[in-house]
Amino acid sequence: MSLEKLANIIFPDIKNTPKYYIEKYAKRKLRDGAKVTRYAPSPTGFQHIGGVFAALVNERLASQSGGVFYLRIEDTDQKREVEGAIEDTIQTMHNFGMDFNEGMTGKETSKGEYGPYRQSQRAEIYNTFAKDLVIKGLAYPCFCTAEELSALREKQTAEKTTPGYYGEYAKCRNLTPEEAIAKIEAGEEYILRLKSQGNTETRVEFHDLIKGDISFPENNQDIVLIKGDGLPTYHFAHAIDDALMGTTHVIRGEEWLSSLPIHVELFKLLGFERPQYAHIPTIMKNDNGSKRKLSKRKDAEAAVSYYKEVGYPAVSVIEYLLNIINSSFEGWREENPTLDYHEFPVHLDKMSKSGALFDIVKLSDISKNVISKMKADVVYDNYITWAKEFDEEMYKLVTANEKISKEIFNIDKEGPKPRKDFAKWDEVKDKIFYFFDELFYKETADQIQLPKTLTLEAAKEVIKVYMDKYNADASSQEEWFEDLKAIGLELGYCGNKKEYKANPDKYKGMISDVAGSVRVALSHRSNTPDIYTIMSILGKDKVKERFEKFLLI
Ligand code: GLU
Repeated sequence: MSLEKLANIIFPDIKNTPKYYIEKYAKRKLRDGAKVTRYAPSPTGFQHIGGVFAALVNERLASQSGGVFYLRIEDTDQKREVEGAIEDTIQTMHNFGMDFNEGMTGKETSKGEYGPYRQSQRAEIYNTFAKDLVIKGLAYPCFCTAEELSALREKQTAEKTTPGYYGEYAKCRNLTPEEAIAKIEAGEEYILRLKSQGNTETRVEFHDLIKGDISFPENNQDIVLIKGDGLPTYHFAHAIDDALMGTTHVIRGEEWLSSLPIHVELFKLLGFERPQYAHIPTIMKNDNGSKRKLSKRKDAEAAVSYYKEVGYPAVSVIEYLLNIINSSFEGWREENPTLDYHEFPVHLDKMSKSGALFDIVKLSDISKNVISKMKADVVYDNYITWAKEFDEEMYKLVTANEKISKEIFNIDKEGPKPRKDFAKWDEVKDKIFYFFDELFYKETADQIQLPKTLTLEAAKEVIKVYMDKYNADASSQEEWFEDLKAIGLELGYCGNKKEYKANPDKYKGMISDVAGSVRVALSHRSNTPDIYTIMSILGKDKVKERFEKFLLI
């Protein structure tokens, strides 16, 4: 009776019982094997690539099984909340090809029968369960001040004992309801703690879908359930929300693994059926030979916005993350070059158990493949969308020259081995700038990149002759090359590598140097797609003009 009195004093407005909510949120009717998963970010405004990684695993497993993937906003730490973060999360996930079946759809809007999907709007639900725990003697108010708690920590450090609020150290645990009531009535501040029933001598056997079989001692910490601001801690909210929302699989970062004993106890004391758990590895970075967590402060690539800014297509990032999730993705992709990645079946048990290494070079390789398979029109559309936001000059140039730009993006695309020029859109300018006079003529002599075997003077000598003699109407690459070769031989260049090696002094160089001269005159670069194609796209007049101006450098 006195526990009930205490509960009523703590929660005077709570009239419902847990039963009300358990009945309100009916068990989901799902087909066999369907998984209900969720993405549960805090609205801090920072989208970490690890969030996309976690969301992707959740989304794939729900979608593959014909289940439900929902968005729950974990905003119980209201100090960290940032305006616009919920909308940004929804938009970001959408850009990465992930849409939610249920949950928040905007700052104040949601869809689905298991809401509210925002924790700050669920206080009454948490309080209902908390009140019930108080009545059952499984939760109690704790009046310890911050000073008392830090004194406790010091004492435990000195005694070299496990830190925390538990057992003999839990001062408020054994207050009688009357004593607690007297403190509340005297205006003392308090929080609500779990009265743990666990014993660290007893071990819990557990099966994690990624980590496999694990075991750990039972929880005995009287963790905080409801904080001073009336909102729950992550632990308490997790147990109640995932139970009432019918989550079948809690797939979350491995940083939560150490809290699992608490969650196991909470599910038990609340009388809930426990979901399955999968703890996904943290994304790590190789930093001078040692592995560390990808850091929001130190690593630009930790922020999702980075990928957009430098211009990795979202699908490249997703394919890269799938590759981390299941290393068999790479082989699958090779065997199925044209299939949509959604066709790839993700398996939790094939996931690496320990820290996943983030490798930007690998991401770029994957992205080059992805872009090389896009049609020129698609490359164009993607590029101008990116450039509009991040490179105004290129946006203007490319859109003003749409036809040529599409031809440029189509170079060597149609064949069986399409060129793999770009990994991200910010690399495009440097690789195609020479098609545009506005950029090409801005270059100074020191920016010209000559092949190792060629000097600027030698290249000019070639161009001086070539520009008057070459066949501007060659109708194929072969015809163009034969013409170039003939001019080169006349100029004293050698057409045969063996012969050249045997008598290098007899020649000015190889025919490849003649080609290199033409390439450099037209592009200022030693490495470009096929010169004949470049000349065809530039057109006769521009080619002539470039040769003339090259001689003036
Ligand atoms: N809000 C928690 C986080 O962002 C969610 C963890 C979970 O998925 O349960 O880490």
